[in-house]
Amino acid sequence: MPEKKQFQTETKQLLNLMINSIYTHKEIFLRELISNASDAIDKMKFESLKDPEILENDTVFKIFIDADEKNKKIIIEDNGIGMSYDDVVENLGTIAKSGTKAFMEQLKNEKSDQETLEMIGQFGVGFYSAFMVADKVTVETKKWNEDNGVKWESDGSGEYEIEYIEKKNRGTKITLHLRKDLEDEDNFAKKEKLEELVRKYSNYIRYPIKMEVTETDEDGKEQKEIKTINSMESLWRKNKDDIAEEEYSEFYKETYHDWTDPFDVIHFKAEGSTVEFTSLLFIPARAPFDYYTKEYKRGLSLYSKNVFIMDKYEELIPSYFSFVKGLVDSPDFTLNISREILQHSKNIKVMKKNIEKKIHQALKSKINNDREKYQEFWNEFGRGMKAGLYENVDKKDKVMDLLLFETSNSEKPITLDEYIENMKKDQEAYIYYAVGESRDSIDNLPQMEAVKEKGFDVLYLTDHIDEFLIQMLHDYKGKQFKSISSSDLKLKDTEEKKKEEEENKDLLGKIKELLSGKVKEVRLTDKLKKSPVCIVSAHEGMSINMEKVLKELDQ
Ligand code: ADP
Ligand code: MG
Repeated sequence: MPEKKQFQTETKQLLNLMINSIYTHKEIFLRELISNASDAIDKMKFESLKDPEILENDTVFKIFIDADEKNKKIIIEDNGIGMSYDDVVENLGTIAKSGTKAFMEQLKNEKSDQETLEMIGQFGVGFYSAFMVADKVTVETKKWNEDNGVKWESDGSGEYEIEYIEKKNRGTKITLHLRKDLEDEDNFAKKEKLEELVRKYSNYIRYPIKMEVTETDEDGKEQKEIKTINSMESLWRKNKDDIAEEEYSEFYKETYHDWTDPFDVIHFKAEGSTVEFTSLLFIPARAPFDYYTKEYKRGLSLYSKNVFIMDKYEELIPSYFSFVKGLVDSPDFTLNISREILQHSKNIKVMKKNIEKKIHQALKSKINNDREKYQEFWNEFGRGMKAGLYENVDKKDKVMDLLLFETSNSEKPITLDEYIENMKKDQEAYIYYAVGESRDSIDNLPQMEAVKEKGFDVLYLTDHIDEFLIQMLHDYKGKQFKSISSSDLKLKDTEEKKKEEEENKDLLGKIKELLSGKVKEVRLTDKLKKSPVCIVSAHEGMSINMEKVLKELDQ
């Protein structure tokens, strides 16, 4: 007797959404199920590297697709790792992902189909997308090291049934019973339709996706034949000159679940030197939903001659370039290498250096040649780059020329190099900055007046992290960062200042007496033009803002 089980609450909500509120792009269900099949084969392949015997006589990895137009059924079958009873309950009854909460939060707001689908891709709730097109889903699966198979079945409405079954072959077979209310264009139980979708979404899947087709031969006789639909070729091992831009885009979108073309693609081969490797990197155009959360994990996938080894390997990407997606393929990796061993490998360091250099070059070239696009990129990832730099100030020379700042003299954000280029002749070797909530609030600071009158440009630091970062960085190309709130701005020469201070000594003393207990000191300043007075922080160089933040942190 099958056991009836309830879906976890979040799963129910998600299923409800899949079934009732997505009307377009239903076709992505196929990509999700194929990518799961491919993942499952990856895992089996990995297991079998340790002991090839476990494959028994099922040694050719493949994904098989079938359609039954009359009965409106689709089947997707793989000979991957399979699932045990507990695996099925865990994987197909709950959403175990840490990103789920964020996902559900996002869903509370009104979203278009497109936005919802983008989220589905990014949060990896892939399997449940089957219920966009099916009113019953049957999963039959057998894990490679189990004797029994397991059958799971649900109509997506709140509960599912699960039982042990007899199953001969290792792997997973998913049967979708298509909904009756699908539009004509969504008639997926047609082989031609499935073939088209595989080419569109799953062409680079490393394993053959096979389907039985009926061909008519010369004599008009119908012949059944099993055909491989996808190209299977890994893009990165092809010659760069033979790859069209769209191929890169399609690969990127399929692999990294994005719906937007990447901002830039970096594809290179390092040969001859100590290490040999190929790398294919993508700079996304838009930040993933979890990019600014703890859940986001940076890293590249590792392959050895086309064979997948591991993903999210973070040692190859510095934290300030955490937004980069991609992979490295090298014959130097051994298949069962561990993260620990890699960490100590000299080759990894060489690779990292190379990769970092390429990313830097690519971004630099965008700054110089396509500022508008770079600006958009910066809006998405600038904060992340700064946060990464904050953790690695010793690497500042490698990153600082990529930062953009809004400034008082320029309409659009500029680089620090551009700031220096435009420095006034009588400007001290300082890069001035001001801290505040917004451009407007900084413009209203009394301290801005004198600096502006001189025509000196001022960086607007409006991100929370900016001020901490700038202080850590200290200088750029020998030009020190200087807060417009610091007491010594060097706008006037010191002789004159001393004289004025001497003349007003009594007055200053009186004011200090009157405000005693409220201020630490009363000083003359050359920073003000229209306002008579202003309050500055007693801590040299620290803004009132930063003091506030530190107080909040109780430091
Ligand atoms: P994700 O693929 O991002 O993990 P899915 O919702 O697509 O999320 O799949 C959930 C889990 O179900 C997978 O992580 C995997 O453990 C399991 N699973 C799904 N399809 C298969 C399959 N064909 N073979 C083995 N396990 C599978
Ligand atoms: Mg998946």
